[in-house]
Amino acid sequence: MIKLEKLPEPAPLARHKERWTTELLAAIASGNADEIKRRKSKYNHADIKEQLKSETKGKCAYCESKVTVVAYGDIEHITPKSIKPELTFEWENLTFACQKCNGKKSTLEDVVDPYSDDVDDHFFFVAEFIRGRTPIGRLTERELELNRVELIEDRCDHLKVLADTLETIANEPNERIRTLTRDALISDLNSGKPEYIKMKRGILAGFAFD
Ligand SMILES: [Zn+2]
Repeated sequence: MIKLEKLPEPAPLARHKERWTTELLAAIASGNADEIKRRKSKYNHADIKEQLKSETKGKCAYCESKVTVVAYGDIEHITPKSIKPELTFEWENLTFACQKCNGKKSTLEDVVDPYSDDVDDHFFFVAEFIRGRTPIGRLTERELELNRVELIEDRCDHLKVLADTLETIANEPNERIRTLTRDALISDLNSGKPEYIKMKRGILAGFAFD
């Protein structure tokens, strides 16, 4: 998990959220399950999803794996919509997550919020393993299973690529090429696009660039 910043609210949400919320709350009051389902699904709008994908760079807001390579990904409600339906269409309450994290988070509220919490305060990495530094960090790691096997395997693959790059930098005799390779690596991490940025930064912190 890394700290995320909200992009501007997409136009369909800004335009319709008040009406969508009123209609959803009225449907909930009426108890009509089909109507509730129909009204609730309005957040699943292509423009909203695209903006959320841009916001997380196509990665899951919780596990930081690249969702869009293998799946469509889910619009996730940070505060569960089943607990606070009035936040179903609230831009600040929406993010993008993989199906697994979204499913595991479900109705949980006590999970680190990648937007409002300082993520670095709550987690640390030991090689490919993420650990909680605080009670809510520990709870989030366990509830979302942030050390599930497929994540560990994927992080290991990324560590190997990073190790190879660092070896190349260490052994490159040409100082200019060494500097360019190092700068490209740092610039890539600063773009927010690669997976598992926090883990990779931890490794770089222990590598002596000259
Ligand atoms: Zn995930």
